[in-house]
Amino acid sequence: MKRDMYYVFILGTAGSGKTTLTKNLQDYLLDQEMDTAVINLDPAVEHLPYTPDFDVRDYVDAYEVMQNYHLGPNSSLIASIDLILTKASEIKSEIDQIEANYVLVDTPGQIELFAYRDTGRLISQLIRGNNKALGLFLLDSFLAKEARSFISLLLLSSSIKFRLDLPIINILNKIDLLTEKELEQILAWGDNAENLIDELGRLDEYSLELVNLLIESLSYNLIPMSSEEGKGFNELYAEIQRVIAGGEDYL
Ligand code: GDP
Ligand code: MG
Repeated sequence: MKRDMYYVFILGTAGSGKTTLTKNLQDYLLDQEMDTAVINLDPAVEHLPYTPDFDVRDYVDAYEVMQNYHLGPNSSLIASIDLILTKASEIKSEIDQIEANYVLVDTPGQIELFAYRDTGRLISQLIRGNNKALGLFLLDSFLAKEARSFISLLLLSSSIKFRLDLPIINILNKIDLLTEKELEQILAWGDNAENLIDELGRLDEYSLELVNLLIESLSYNLIPMSSEEGKGFNELYAEIQRVIAGGEDYL
């Protein structure tokens, strides 16, 4: 019988550091003597810092799709992911061979796949099967330091949570790009909606309620990390274990 496997979907806007975190989280988990495997779902990536156990590029080539269907780069990536579903049974049987404690899934930057289209949910279900799963959503510090962008990123994260129907851990990534003061400020926003509301100035009632709700649902899991500088991995690992232990009840 196969042992328990946990699927960790690594999500976030293009350039937020998903691929780098996938590599560094795998190294971290290996140090904890956890067996890990990695799935690459990005059909357009040219260079990977890790060796994938499953690589979507073996099934679809975004550049071929672009030429064959006369599409631009963004729509060809979205079409590539749709095409993956036409090869579901082959993919499933390859993925079924994977055995590991943790399976890290590196996702493409086209976040609309996961936020606005059903494809992301179908693919995540295809991949994880009946195994437990969670998502990590990366907020790029460079964007998050602006209050309104911070809110937009949290909305995106909520949208992905809603689509995938998975527990999501939010990560403030690339904190090495922030001054100490900027980091403190972002963490204070995440801690208490009042801090964020002060920063935003006058707000209509709808926005006020929205901000309160977003921060309320966040307050216990915004994890500051710099995956390049190896910061925050212990906290992330503890949170992952908490989510796994909490199962479906975890919000
Ligand atoms: P992806 O598009 O989300 O997969 O992002 P990548 O992992 O490819 O990273 C995009 C860029 O951000 C690369 O230039 C990385 O070197 C850089 N990057 C990733 N993680 C960090 C980090 O923790 N700190 C800093 N400063 N840069 C990072
Ligand atoms: Mg990537």
